[in-house]
Amino acid sequence: MRHSERLGRIPPYLYAQLERKIAEKRAAGIDVITLGIGDPDTPTYPPIVEAAQRAVANPTTHTYPTNRGREEFRNAVAKFYDRRFRVELDADGEVMPAIGAKECIFNLNLAFLDPGDVALAADPGYPVYTGGPLLVGAEGVRMPLVPELGLIPDLDAIDAKTRERARILFVNYPNNPTGAVVPDGFFEALVAFGAENDILIVHDNAYSETTFDGYVAPSFLETPGAKEVGVEVFSLSKGYNMTGWRCAAIVGNSQAIAAYWRLKTNVDSGMFEAVQLAGAVALGPSIDKYVAAMNTIYQRRRDMVCEALAKIGVQVTPPRGTIYIWAPIPEGFESAAAYCEYVLEEAAVVISPGAAYGPNGEGFFRISLTTPDDRLEEAIARLGKLAE
Ligand SMILES: *Cc1c(COP(=O)(O)O)cnc(C)c1O
Repeated sequence: MRHSERLGRIPPYLYAQLERKIAEKRAAGIDVITLGIGDPDTPTYPPIVEAAQRAVANPTTHTYPTNRGREEFRNAVAKFYDRRFRVELDADGEVMPAIGAKECIFNLNLAFLDPGDVALAADPGYPVYTGGPLLVGAEGVRMPLVPELGLIPDLDAIDAKTRERARILFVNYPNNPTGAVVPDGFFEALVAFGAENDILIVHDNAYSETTFDGYVAPSFLETPGAKEVGVEVFSLSKGYNMTGWRCAAIVGNSQAIAAYWRLKTNVDSGMFEAVQLAGAVALGPSIDKYVAAMNTIYQRRRDMVCEALAKIGVQVTPPRGTIYIWAPIPEGFESAAAYCEYVLEEAAVVISPGAAYGPNGEGFFRISLTTPDDRLEEAIARLGKLAE
């Protein structure tokens, strides 16, 4: 059956291909350990689950939600932003639920891009930053993250023509896949860039609550002027072990949020209200201790992986945020994909090739820390054996 040309233009989603390969190996009795996708292995914190159980039993959550979202959820997000970031948000016009950050990022493309327009996308970066523009008939232009600048894009290197065509820009700190945290001054530069060029800045905030060594990640909206030029997409997926719930919020510029709302009223019917009520509980101060305990677990795993990699000659600086280790592939492999394929075939360990996040990720691989300690240790031991 014929599908759209647009669909044909996007590469197949990395994990969709991998899932098939893993299933084949497992069916053949091979013990595959996956350090690929970033999907927390620990359950959602109990008070959130209990809140959801109560909310599901409450008939007011059973009808169609509105795209604007329940007051309880919007107020909880606004309160959280005030408590956590000292950012004031109007819960009526500056906060809206999103059915996961992925949905929101994709739909922002639909709401802001016409054919011929450009979305500027961090490279390496979350695949939807470039797949989204293609699917709506526009174009993603990659902005390489420059190691010498602290893994930020060189905004000065974006030429005048591209600036003119660009309507939207996607960045994310703490960063997936590199683990980088935002360098001082970059958010300020982004605000100026957005204002100068009339480009909507979208900060994809999936990891501000997942940080280590005492580092506290900022919100983009803490930056003076940020609300005039941009929005932040805050996801509960990673920090609250809620990937399956599809719970996120878009906050910031009210005009951008109004456009997103207008689009969404034609696309979906909002987030299940029981999920919204559970999400509201997740953002309360009583959950902070669970987040902190989770970060202790990830920090321990991070250190274990970094030490093990150092022993086999792979040097990485331990990241101060996210659930990923980003490391150079060993010498002797022609590409990240070739190394990852080799590791899967010879060690039955799944790791992600850096190039899956953009051409600028070539030469690197990503390890996700979302696997129980003993399995993670076993996987790293297998990588060590391969290197002998
Ligand atoms: C995991 C992730 C997302 C997806 O978040 P959801 O809320 O689960 O859709 C978005 N952006 C980045 C950078 C991520 O790592």
